[in-house]
Amino acid sequence: MVGRACKIPIHYLGMVTNKILLTPLSHYFPALAPSEKASQQCYFDSAATACTLASVIEAMSNFYERAHGSVHRGVYESAERTTTQYESVRGQVAQFINARSSAEIIFTAGATDSLNTIAYVWARHILEPGDGIIITQAEHHAHYVLWHEMARRYGAHVYVLPIDPITSCVDVSGLDHLLTKSIKVFAATMSSNVLGPIWGADNYLLRQCITKVRSVGAGVIIDAAQTIAHAPIDVERLECDFLAFSVHKMGGPTGLGVLYARSSMHAHMKPYRFGGGMVAAVADDFMTWQAAPHCFEAGTPPIAQVVGLGALLDFYTKYVDFAALRQQEATLCAQLIGALESIPGVHVVGNKELLSSQGHVVSFYVDGIHAHDLASSLGQYGCAVRAGDHCAQPLSSLWGNKATVRASFFMYNSPAQVEHLIAALRNCISRWREIL
Ligand code: PLP
Repeated sequence: MVGRACKIPIHYLGMVTNKILLTPLSHYFPALAPSEKASQQCYFDSAATACTLASVIEAMSNFYERAHGSVHRGVYESAERTTTQYESVRGQVAQFINARSSAEIIFTAGATDSLNTIAYVWARHILEPGDGIIITQAEHHAHYVLWHEMARRYGAHVYVLPIDPITSCVDVSGLDHLLTKSIKVFAATMSSNVLGPIWGADNYLLRQCITKVRSVGAGVIIDAAQTIAHAPIDVERLECDFLAFSVHKMGGPTGLGVLYARSSMHAHMKPYRFGGGMVAAVADDFMTWQAAPHCFEAGTPPIAQVVGLGALLDFYTKYVDFAALRQQEATLCAQLIGALESIPGVHVVGNKELLSSQGHVVSFYVDGIHAHDLASSLGQYGCAVRAGDHCAQPLSSLWGNKATVRASFFMYNSPAQVEHLIAALRNCISRWREIL
């Protein structure tokens, strides 16, 4: 996607505003407004949840402030307007990820919900004892635990592609041996929430895997939770059957996710949640469902959040140049990694070269200091970072199950903020070393 010219190039938002203070960041992201405690908010936890865009908040509050109605139900003017708006956002999503039709877009409660939905509407109907499910060691628990649980229930086997401890990329060397007709599911994250890029330059290893698993007829599921806000996604080019993401990691509202389901899969999917909006006809002895996507959206959906998503996608389409955004985030990764490497006892996890060209997260641990202690000390300097296992426990066995500190970057982060983080980190590490 190519960004159009705008008054303040959004991909330099952080850099421009920090140097010459043209437009305060809080104009776009109100949560970044200076507070009594901190003159600048250094928010480095966007991989968990991003700050919400002002135009999203405005669209949602406009929606609540004026007459509306539920979707696909009311026949009065405001309900019909709401339905039209809701469905037009579905079309925007389809266009954003290059889906062939808006019928391939199902609204869910988040990435976790999307992934669970795939398991319930599709996988449990096709899995048989002895079948195989391939995942990677870098999966978020939303994938890792889900597929182990599905395997346990349906007598299938989970094969985990390991992360190579040297390259921090997925080791695909064992894949060919697994490729038989019994492999039914290939479920992988496009980008790790701990390591960042794990599939080599421009994800070539992922493309290889997808081609191979498709050749034995496996369904391809992509967790794009850590990709959707940072790189363009083209589901046709990717050749996936399902793709999942959360809207709150993009600068949108919580409580909303997207599940892309290729139309050729619809015939093999059965609704698993039942209620209003998903039925065509109901009698005691006869029930029929709406066509996809409506049969998978039982009950009143998160309408206001979908309206917010519409405003968010308007913003991305008008202002976000993904190539520039990637460069900005990767440059910040390189800046932080360079500084971390100069501090004795600090260990960066992940492929430093890939992170410096296409990363948005940097995770590290410090000998003798617990990640939670460090993160909490950094908080006193106005730096919000995440610490722990990041819902990816099987991955941390690569570095002795130690918790890591993770700084994640988005369009509002700048080199000046990273400088501040580095200075704060140096202070915190020496303070903790004095105490311990
Ligand atoms: N997958 C990945 C790679 C993630 O990073 C996350 C959240 O951090 C999820 C799935 C789950 O997202 P959510 O908690 O929004 O459902």
